[in-house]
Amino acid sequence: MRCPKCKNLDTKVIDSRIAEDGKSIRRRRECEKCESRFTTFERMEFVNFVVTKSTGEEELYDRSKVERSIEKAVYKRNVDHTAIETMINDLENEWAANKKGITSKRIGKDILRKLKDIDQVAYVRFASIYHNFEDVRQFADFIKSEFE
Ligand SMILES: [Zn+2]
Repeated sequence: MRCPKCKNLDTKVIDSRIAEDGKSIRRRRECEKCESRFTTFERMEFVNFVVTKSTGEEELYDRSKVERSIEKAVYKRNVDHTAIETMINDLENEWAANKKGITSKRIGKDILRKLKDIDQVAYVRFASIYHNFEDVRQFADFIKSEFE
């Protein structure tokens, strides 16, 4: 953020608050060179779409749910969290752009597909939740078909 007075690029934030519209952040900044103060408004991007659950119920997409389910799968795995963040961001853009609407099943399937490239153990863990295997045999068959 460039200082409007001296054009210096180094400014520090001295105060941040949510603006009245609830969708932007108002920041008070101070130039580190000339010490002049100015205000910026930064817009927050919301990803907003409806998800149809397997029961047929509809609900507003909730990123924290997706994050929690992935956290379980990557638990104690040495996984790059930036890669996970990027993965969710990319998928959210795909989902939000889908005019036909998104099902929770599709969300699970997409995460599964992407996780495979990031971490194979996390992928298998996520798959076991997603496919809801009835017994060890089903699970073993899945692993076999995926990795052999
Ligand atoms: Zn300045």
